[in-house]
Amino acid sequence: MRERVGAFFRNTYAPDSHGVCNVCRGPASGGICRICARHRNDYGNGLADRTVLLTYAQGSHPDGPHQSAHEVRAYKGYKGTPPVERCKENLQLVVNTAIQVHYPCISRWLNASWDGITFVPSRDRPGKNHPVAALANAVLSNSRLELQKFLLEPGPGSDNKHQLVADRFTVPDRWRDVVDGKNILIVDDTWTTGSSAQGAAIAVKGAGASSVTVLCVDRWLRHDWEDHRTLIDTLDNPYDPLICPVVGRVCSRSADFRLTRV
Ligand SMILES: [Zn+2]
Ligand SMILES: [Zn+2]
Repeated sequence: MRERVGAFFRNTYAPDSHGVCNVCRGPASGGICRICARHRNDYGNGLADRTVLLTYAQGSHPDGPHQSAHEVRAYKGYKGTPPVERCKENLQLVVNTAIQVHYPCISRWLNASWDGITFVPSRDRPGKNHPVAALANAVLSNSRLELQKFLLEPGPGSDNKHQLVADRFTVPDRWRDVVDGKNILIVDDTWTTGSSAQGAAIAVKGAGASSVTVLCVDRWLRHDWEDHRTLIDTLDNPYDPLICPVVGRVCSRSADFRLTRV
């Protein structure tokens, strides 16, 4: 894992880390960043109850595309280029390993186990053939989890790419039973402003879900934004799957895992 992605991915800071937003793990003073605070003000409990972000991607690097940024774009094809299989495998490996090691930590944090799973669909390529579906499948390839799958569809507000709106996605009627009263996991590849993942959370909560967890592979940071660059400058260590995305260090679960698997 460290050989494959450690050179360019970095672990995210845990929620409640100093100077980091509890929701998006971007830079923040006082626990929550301005964008997430605005979302909370506008949508309150309609948003995700828990957000799990695994790595930081470094956008707008002054020396040209950083490999971390390239991976999350290339895995699904970017600017007319076809998807790069190795990038997809790398992201799947990050997701699968994080769930294998830290699912107990995440479910303890949520105080519930997931019942159902979906992913954030793309407006241009909705449906299960989008590469982000492969990331949701990387959760499911963990044999301990048996979750019911369902699909979101783009809603009337799907043109609204950068702003959080309540009708960006819908839960089709045929999936209502899978969602109503259930604990749902929503998988996405990249968190930029959170408007896609939180838009999906609003749709799922609106369909009656008891709780929503968002699992996002990458938090997108930008070198050309000063507060982002300050955070990037603190990211020294290669991505380590044993660092817990919930507590931000080697947790009791990863200590067990290391002992039993070595
Ligand atoms: Zn935030
Ligand atoms: Zn853990």
